[in-house]
Amino acid sequence: MKFKTRKRVLITGGAGFLGSHLSERMLAAGHDVLVVDNFYTGSKDNIISLLDNPHFELMRHDVTMPLYVEVDEIFNLACPASPIHYQHNPVQTTKTSVHGAINMLGLAKRVQAKILQASTSEVYGDPDVHPQPESYWGRVNCNGIRACYDEGKRCAETLFFDYWRQYKLRIKVIRIFNTYGPRMHPNDGRVVSNFIVQALQNDDLTLYGDGSQTRSFCYCDDLIEGMIRMMDSPDDFIGPVNIGNPGEFTIRELAEKIIALTGSRSKIIYRPLPQDDPRQRRPDITLARERLGWQPSISLDEGLKRTIAYFDALLSGRPTDSARA
Ligand code: NAD
Ligand code: UDP
Ligand code: UDP
Repeated sequence: MKFKTRKRVLITGGAGFLGSHLSERMLAAGHDVLVVDNFYTGSKDNIISLLDNPHFELMRHDVTMPLYVEVDEIFNLACPASPIHYQHNPVQTTKTSVHGAINMLGLAKRVQAKILQASTSEVYGDPDVHPQPESYWGRVNCNGIRACYDEGKRCAETLFFDYWRQYKLRIKVIRIFNTYGPRMHPNDGRVVSNFIVQALQNDDLTLYGDGSQTRSFCYCDDLIEGMIRMMDSPDDFIGPVNIGNPGEFTIRELAEKIIALTGSRSKIIYRPLPQDDPRQRRPDITLARERLGWQPSISLDEGLKRTIAYFDALLSGRPTDSARA
């Protein structure tokens, strides 16, 4: 690796599910990685194999506080992503998205770094346009229980675009659709991890509502590839760009698939649908295909098998890294 091509990369939320995969990829590509995390939903276990690498640094820090470091690129991922966690302290969730964005944008401005925001399909809310293209403005309840996350992320996008317009900052905005894989927190309440953990323990799978709502699930490795391609794309392509897998499934189909793949004795039980739960969600990825040459390559069945292997190892106390494909 030549000196000039080694970048100093800051990953906020780098001890989380997606951040840990991104850290691994950036180190493997020969860059210096600084992870900043307050360990709210992330864990040292996710990055334990990186701690001995001299090109890796870990800093316990909350992005709602100013941060003074010297870096070339910033991936801003800090924010709890599962409804249970982001609704646990909703005021802090909005602060993390909004104050966190202001601080990371201020940092990017001072050191002239390129900065990528991990935005979300939640900016489309409960969408009445299907599938969702980037041009759709969304349908978000601004005072419901999901608003701390949805509106926080929407405001962060606003800040990114205003720093771009006002200060000519080099920004990149990706809208991530439901992504799953090894290192999801087993208790974080998201549907893939919940169902797999329940199925592996032969506990009943908790289906919210009648299970006819849909989601489109992207495997983490595909997502990280899209994120890196976006960061490396020409400066005039700033997004927002959808990154997700267009394969769409009802949540009932997902439950049945996971029971079949695990060979579980679990049954499906029905629980009330949470307020403002989106009825349908599927990315239109035309823009990512055209501008990034990106599309997902891992099917739901294949991704679920890898994720099941990970949780199986985790629950039985075996090393989890060997379970990764
Ligand atoms: P995660 O909860 O595993 O990771 C988030 C990380 O941010 C954790 O390590 C957490 O400790 C850290 N964090 C939270 N608040 C912080 C703060 N104030 N200061 C510093 N660190 C803080 O979730 P994830 O799935 O890895 O999501 C990563 C990012 O991608 C998030 O911004 C999320 O909104 C976005 N995203 C994820 C998905 C998905 O399906 N996984 C979908 C859309 C968007
Ligand atoms: N900031 C930071 N690190 C830096 C530069 C700025 O955390 O290296 C924070 C700083 O606390 C400020 C925010 O980023 O509140 C926004 O910075 P900006 O320069 O845009 O605004 P100003 O400092 O003028 O309010
Ligand atoms: N869900 C479910 N059972 C669970 C967890 C989630 O039926 O144990 C449903 C949830 O109501 C939603 C979908 O699965 O309709 C996806 O939920 P998740 O929290 O994973 O993501 P999000 O709603 O943010 O897309």
